[in-house]
Amino acid sequence: MTHPDLLIVGAGPAGLALATALARQGTRSLLLEQQPLAAIEHPEEDGRDIALTHRSRGILESLGIWQRLPQQEIAPLVEARVSNGGSPLVLPFDARGDGHEALGWLVPNHRLREAAHAAAIDSAGVELRTGVRVTALERDANQATLRLEAGAALHAPLVVAADSRHSTLRRMAGIGAQMHDFGRTAIVCRVGHERAHEGVALECFRYGNTLALLPMAGQVSSAVVTLDSDRASEWLALADTEFAARIERQSEGRLGAITVAGRRHSYPLVGVYAHRFASDRFALVGDAAVGMHPVTAHGYNFGLYGVETLARELAAARSAARPLAAALQAYASEHRRATLPIYLGTNAIVTLFTDDRAPARLLRGAVLRVARRLPPLRTLITRQLTGAGRA
Ligand SMILES: Cc1cc2nc3c(=O)[nH]c(=O)nc-3n(C[C@H](O)[C@H](O)[C@H](O)COP(=O)(O)OP(=O)(O)OC[C@H]3O[C@@H](n4cnc5c(N)ncnc54)[C@H](O)[C@@H]3O)c2cc1C
Repeated sequence: MTHPDLLIVGAGPAGLALATALARQGTRSLLLEQQPLAAIEHPEEDGRDIALTHRSRGILESLGIWQRLPQQEIAPLVEARVSNGGSPLVLPFDARGDGHEALGWLVPNHRLREAAHAAAIDSAGVELRTGVRVTALERDANQATLRLEAGAALHAPLVVAADSRHSTLRRMAGIGAQMHDFGRTAIVCRVGHERAHEGVALECFRYGNTLALLPMAGQVSSAVVTLDSDRASEWLALADTEFAARIERQSEGRLGAITVAGRRHSYPLVGVYAHRFASDRFALVGDAAVGMHPVTAHGYNFGLYGVETLARELAAARSAARPLAAALQAYASEHRRATLPIYLGTNAIVTLFTDDRAPARLLRGAVLRVARRLPPLRTLITRQLTGAGRA
């Protein structure tokens, strides 16, 4: 592609969705990805199962990504039940109470990535170059330039970095980030079970580790164990039968007998919040802007909200002949407003509910009891997922 309107670095689910969204407005993007094509075209199962909100589903539908997902692998999330320590008290979030069939939907990450790639390459005005390494970013009043390891230079009016929470481009652009290393690791693994999950997710903030069981299509759930990173290798080394037995014990038999139904994958947990989402001829989207702890399941949802906002602001600026800088500023402000409270709230929840010391244990119990007695709070959280009441 000669003279693209945009260079996007990173063909993960955020970069691919952005290229597709912009192509629908006639904007031509050149996507640069460091991995080989096969890893983007047919990504391997990575154990992540992504909970998507109603707003995200709407965005994915508008981009033709949702329609490309294998429909039999989409699982509705009807209810979420949160419990704490050994307490029998449960905090429920139920979509039906709010007039919805589901709080959201769970989709395997590799299927999302596959569908996002298919939608992007089927879009007129999107080119993907794989196996590419960027070595420098330069900007002047007229254009942004990316220099590649192979020696070439690419120019465009705008560069967008969608190159993960550890974004190299963010650093090249001189944008810092607040990083919160939780010192913990998430171990994810598909498990089969004797009893049907009925679309219910269980989030058990136990003492020692956290266990989430997320309903997948069929009689299968995604088990997510989070624990201090120095204990991860022990859990990863367990025989399948022992791993399944631990999940069964910790879920207190709610799903009956558990069996392992997939490989275990591990993810060290680091929250990242960029100091700025945009600067001269440069913007951040996806995890490069906001990298969330997975407990509140917002990472890719935020990525899609950012894609929607950036695409809208760029289109509005073009039709009103406003400068690019104004569009980037509008994107950055709105995305910050949409994400910062939940980023900080998620980190606070994780910090409290992974603290097993006596005062924290008391506070954890109290928070859950208060939340149970405050139906408006639960309604607010439920609506944040279903999108009810959004303007
Ligand atoms: C265990 C777990 C569970 C999760 N659950 C949920 C959930 O329920 N709901 C939810 O919304 N989110 C969830 N997430 C978060 C979600 O997976 C991420 O937000 C999402 O994958 C981020 O997409 P991205 O495209 O921004 O980044 P990535 O998926 O990290 O993709 C970045 C791409 O950029 C490429 N790249 C990196 N550096 C360069 C470079 N220098 N040059 C060229 N290419 C580069 C990489 O190869 C990659 O292809 C979860 C995450 C984890 C770990």
